[in-house]
Amino acid sequence: MSGAASLVPLPPGRTTLGVLGGGQLGRMFVHAAQAHGYRVAVLEPDPASPAGAAADEHLRAAYDDAAALAELQHLCAAVTTEFENVPAAALRQLAAALPVAPPADAVQVCQHRALEKRCFVDAGVPCAPHALVDSTEAAADPALAALLPGLLKTARLGYDGKGQRAVATAAELPAAWAALGGVPCVLEKKLALAQELSVVVARGRDGTVVHLPVQQNLHRDGILAVTQVPAPDVAAATAVQAVERAGRLAAALDYVGVLCVEFFVLADGSLVANEMAPRPHNSGHHSIDSCDVSQFDLQLRTLAGLPLVAPRLHSPAVMLNLLGDLWFGDGGDVPREPDWAAVLAEPGVHLHLYGKREARRARKMGHLTVTAADAATARATALRIAARLGLPAF
Ligand code: ADP
Ligand code: MG
Repeated sequence: MSGAASLVPLPPGRTTLGVLGGGQLGRMFVHAAQAHGYRVAVLEPDPASPAGAAADEHLRAAYDDAAALAELQHLCAAVTTEFENVPAAALRQLAAALPVAPPADAVQVCQHRALEKRCFVDAGVPCAPHALVDSTEAAADPALAALLPGLLKTARLGYDGKGQRAVATAAELPAAWAALGGVPCVLEKKLALAQELSVVVARGRDGTVVHLPVQQNLHRDGILAVTQVPAPDVAAATAVQAVERAGRLAAALDYVGVLCVEFFVLADGSLVANEMAPRPHNSGHHSIDSCDVSQFDLQLRTLAGLPLVAPRLHSPAVMLNLLGDLWFGDGGDVPREPDWAAVLAEPGVHLHLYGKREARRARKMGHLTVTAADAATARATALRIAARLGLPAF
């Protein structure tokens, strides 16, 4: 948060908040902010974006368009981002004039896997053994053999498993690096994962930190598929450790806003940080329906300087991501609408579709959260829905 920040809450009803980015995370922030009486302006070049469609104002321009940033500054009392690849310079420019959360420096760290890993190491948070690969010579370094088999990941702009190559042998490395475009990459040792977790924390301007319950995540083809809370297979001590480390990272980044830290649990129970997102996270979407304060409420509260109270999980929940593949059924090319009536006939289903006009395979079109009085019921219902939609069991 910039020096222009004050600890006086921004009053709902008289305040417009700004969002850089027009995706589904922005859309759900808009919904939370509007429910609290705020107006929201979204800066997003796409004329048909999920957040732009929901916002009170939609500025259709690039994130680094000087005139659009000046207009956002004029319209808004504070600005947040929903998109981690927003230019840090745009956040810095805005922060000179009004409160901006998350801070540009923290976003810049989360945008670059090597800086992110250094942040983990500096904060004493274990992460996968890794090395920077940013030249042909570096890709041929025999010392990298210790990291193989490994995953070569572009340092920037990777998401949903994109920008990654599995590398089995040293001989494959130069070609893998070239195939990723010869851009700076991080080679990480491939670890045997027992589970994947994530923790969403929110840190206020006064350093207060609250968190959502630890989430257990299942990925398919590098994309989040299922999140379960409470985490069914995670030891209580591991969950405590994950929350402590996520809070430690937020403090190390002098963070204000919502931060998600992804972790791996290895076979011996040890916990390894994977990556951080400087924003609400797909794995925290359940909180809209399962918690008394959602991750988007937390984003709003940190941005507007409202009190941060610890979210309480009132219902066990299972979240299923709805990718564009569902619109194509069994391999056809012509999109069709999934059978929402059948899905909504199940008890405890909360359907969220993002208003994206075009379904594409692997594109996140929406999610649904199943809540129930107990975890076994939520899971059984989610499994029935998954089968109905043609999704694999979990
Ligand atoms: P993205 O930015 O695309 O989410 P991640 O680094 O989180 O990239 O990788 C996506 C998924 O790939 C992870 O959730 C995990 O399932 C798998 N993965 C990533 N890194 C490793 C690793 N070092 N060892 C084993 N699996 C990994
Ligand atoms: Mg990830």
